[in-house]
Amino acid sequence: MDFPVYIQTAMRILKEHGAEGYAVGGCVRDTLLGRPVNDYDLAVNVPPQKTERCFAGYKVIETGLKHGTVTVVIDKHNVEITSFRIDGGYTDARRPDSVAFTPSLEQDLCRRDFTVNAMACGQNGDIIDLFGGKDDLQNRLIRCVGDPDARFKEDALRILRALRFAAALDFTIEEKTAAALRANAAALTKISAERKFAELKKLLAGVSAAPILTQYKDVICVCIPQLADLPEAEYTAAAHTAGNLRDALLSFAALMRPLGPQTAEEVCRALKTDNRFRNTAVFLIEEQHTVYATKGQARRALGAFGADRCRLLLRFRQALGMEADALNDVIADPGNLPAKIADLRVTGADIAALGFTGKEIADELNRLLIRAAEGDLPNEKDPLLQAAVNDIKI
Ligand code: ATP
Ligand code: MG
Repeated sequence: MDFPVYIQTAMRILKEHGAEGYAVGGCVRDTLLGRPVNDYDLAVNVPPQKTERCFAGYKVIETGLKHGTVTVVIDKHNVEITSFRIDGGYTDARRPDSVAFTPSLEQDLCRRDFTVNAMACGQNGDIIDLFGGKDDLQNRLIRCVGDPDARFKEDALRILRALRFAAALDFTIEEKTAAALRANAAALTKISAERKFAELKKLLAGVSAAPILTQYKDVICVCIPQLADLPEAEYTAAAHTAGNLRDALLSFAALMRPLGPQTAEEVCRALKTDNRFRNTAVFLIEEQHTVYATKGQARRALGAFGADRCRLLLRFRQALGMEADALNDVIADPGNLPAKIADLRVTGADIAALGFTGKEIADELNRLLIRAAEGDLPNEKDPLLQAAVNDIKI
């Protein structure tokens, strides 16, 4: 396994101080799969205070110190270095009650969730694979390290993580792991909304989200109980559309669509999604059926919603099998006709000067926009003012 220079530097500095650093988890898995690596996590056989001393000349961020993580900035890269850990007992299916540092790589690897996530790679490039992770990668299997039932009882988030990795990597969940995760699914209610939502997003964006959402509907419904009310066929159809979108937000909106915008909003609040995610998902569900018959209407939608949302709406409508209309044309070529009142070459003050007052001003600007956006009226000061004067006459 080859490491980027900044990771080699981190490993070398640790070595110079008598410590041993290993790349662990996702970066080893993704490298062996030939996939792009998100980020390199390092594990080290010394406690965090010692890690900090190794990097005396570097910027060190202490945010994860309690859990043994020291972040070191090397060549502008944040490198997370976590001390080998044993997780103490679990009493709440959520977080270990305590963590203890250990000099044993084996102990650190056996606390990890799945065999494909429990491999390490030392400075010399050799892979340490104590639980058959390479074989499981070969066979495309998600399998717990150790007894799956015990592992899901320790931390119920792993249930959703199994689904997430299966969806993202297009893997199957090994039989015993699958049975244990179903049996323990109810414990997901103890997990914080934020942790669940982070995993759900990755699941929804995964290449095989559709089969995972369908096969593990029971587990998904523990996280989103509102979905349990849907008839089977409707759920399956929504899961299918969702799974083909490859984007967390669009996929979520597709899954929530049969529930309607109001319930979608409730679900977002329960999952504590960020506001942008919630508002956009609700927007997509509300606007999915609007047909834009003329370019003017489409242009005003563009002005009102913004280009980003309109582009998402197009992808959403396309996934739902809706026909292209003027919105597609305007997004492809917005031209320079006005899309919102601010684009008009007259202002509220110009309109007020003609004698309009109060709400009449905004109404008149809107009337002008409708015609100018359609291309019926030039977006130039004199014709716009003339049109407004004519409107007074009416
Ligand atoms: P990604 O590329 O999506 O970040 P990852 O494998 O790095 O994938 P993370 O969630 O960043 O996933 O976790 C890093 C590693 O920490 C995992 O590979 C796994 O070894 C371990 N891990 C994370 N969460 C858990 C957990 N809940 N239980 C056990 N081990 C975990
Ligand atoms: Mg990671």
